Amino acid sequence: MITAAQVQPKDRPLFIGGAWRAGGSDEWLEVLNPADERTVGRHAVATPADLDEALEAAAAGFAAWRQTTPLQRSEVLRGAAALIRLRAETIARDLTCEQGKPLAQARMEVEGCARHFEWAAEEGRRAYGRVIPANQPGLMWTVTRHPIGPVAAFTPWNFPASQAAGKIGSALAAGCSMILKGPEDAPGGCVALAQALADAGLPAGVLNLVFGRPAEISAHLIASPIIRKVSFTGSVPVGKLLAQQAARHMKPCTMELGGHAPVLVFADIDPIEVAQTLVQGKFRNAGQVCISPTRFYVEAKVYDQLVEAFVAGAEKLVVGDGLDPRTEMGPLAHDRRLAAVEAAVAGAVEAGAQVRTGGERLGNRGYFYRPTVLTDTPETAPILHEEPFGPIAILAPFTDREEAMARANGTAYGLAAYAFTRSQETAAWLGRNLEAGMVGLNTFAVGGPEAPFGGVKESGYGREGGMEGIDAYLTPRVIAHLPI
Ligand code: NAD
Repeated sequence: MITAAQVQPKDRPLFIGGAWRAGGSDEWLEVLNPADERTVGRHAVATPADLDEALEAAAAGFAAWRQTTPLQRSEVLRGAAALIRLRAETIARDLTCEQGKPLAQARMEVEGCARHFEWAAEEGRRAYGRVIPANQPGLMWTVTRHPIGPVAAFTPWNFPASQAAGKIGSALAAGCSMILKGPEDAPGGCVALAQALADAGLPAGVLNLVFGRPAEISAHLIASPIIRKVSFTGSVPVGKLLAQQAARHMKPCTMELGGHAPVLVFADIDPIEVAQTLVQGKFRNAGQVCISPTRFYVEAKVYDQLVEAFVAGAEKLVVGDGLDPRTEMGPLAHDRRLAAVEAAVAGAVEAGAQVRTGGERLGNRGYFYRPTVLTDTPETAPILHEEPFGPIAILAPFTDREEAMARANGTAYGLAAYAFTRSQETAAWLGRNLEAGMVGLNTFAVGGPEAPFGGVKESGYGREGGMEGIDAYLTPRVIAHLPI
């Protein structure tokens, strides 16, 4: 095993117009390993002049890339997917060192990037148009679909590589160019994707990668007339801010924002057996997942048994440095998250919640927080309405399914929702009534490149993945042709 202390610090430069380089002011900011707070690298900071260069590069890149065939684009994406697989071990280790997740989860994330690129490579070739029967003799109506133009994309630190791969794959397959602002807390994943694409033959300027001060970068890029589309993954407040900026310039957005996923557990399920699945789903990536299950509503008959089994499962989890193969849950990704999780639990306790396990920081080096289970949380407590985004499970009993549904749908979020039941009738009812973009019935596996990923209500709009994911980067054009 390589320990964190043996990892060499790495530079994460900007990638503009096909060249890797420092920002114009040569400012670099440190990247820390959340497991031990050591420096694992540094990222460049883009100045306004660098952003202008990136905009010019994206404009030139788009002019060339839109002329390529879907098959040519597909070959580049496939080539990049193959390179990502070849480099998987290094990329995964960097993800763990910068973001904290266990290496096994980092490897899965890297494989996910390759699959995103492959899916986009395939789906981009099916960007079909259509012929519409016209309403005049001799008139022909055809609908063709065109790349929307240069995209400004903003991706977060919780899945530093795969969140970016989803956006890059779809945009590039559709024929768009992109300026991506990667996550400063964990920049290595985006650097690896850009390098793989460049090595696979992506022309200069088609993908540009920047880091720096997020608010300055987003304001600068969104206001530029070169940018034709905005795609953001992150928190609801930041999503609203960027959507407002985009609206000022009438630019379409894809907004993949936060969630507060309910889980309804019915009494026809063995509570001991299901507890293992729930614990694994909850504490994946230390709960820093937008579709993480957070509010567990359990039918009263099996509630006590389930709480006991859930607490036992949470206490058994091995928490540690993600590079250690025994680790099942790593640290939180940065000190902001540690502070936010501490504040969320303190607020819940103040409102009357009981901490059944966890509820405290683990050690004093690195951003570790114990897997936490809360019960008796009043429905009005802030933690039930603000995304916890950490290793916190909130358990509560329910007596009838209508009441459980009302509580499940009772937040401003609507990203993912889950339920566990053996009843086909209940499953169908849940599918009809849960207000969410993704519903998992007896599973947490709702996301993959093949399926549309996104939310309703304040969780955002637009979808990534599936045929909808490519569609987000295309705009239809009707060509009415009267031959003369
Ligand atoms: P944050 O809200 O400050 O930042 C979230 C992400 O948005 C980061 O990647 C950040 O770099 C970026 N960002 C922030 N301000 C921006 C701006 N003005 N322009 C462009 N990008 C900007 O908070 P944080 O502490 O980094 O993350 C905490 C919250 O973010 C969580 O509570 C969670 O709700 C949300 N989040 C959601 C996802 C997701 O997958 N939907 C992923 C990561 C974080």
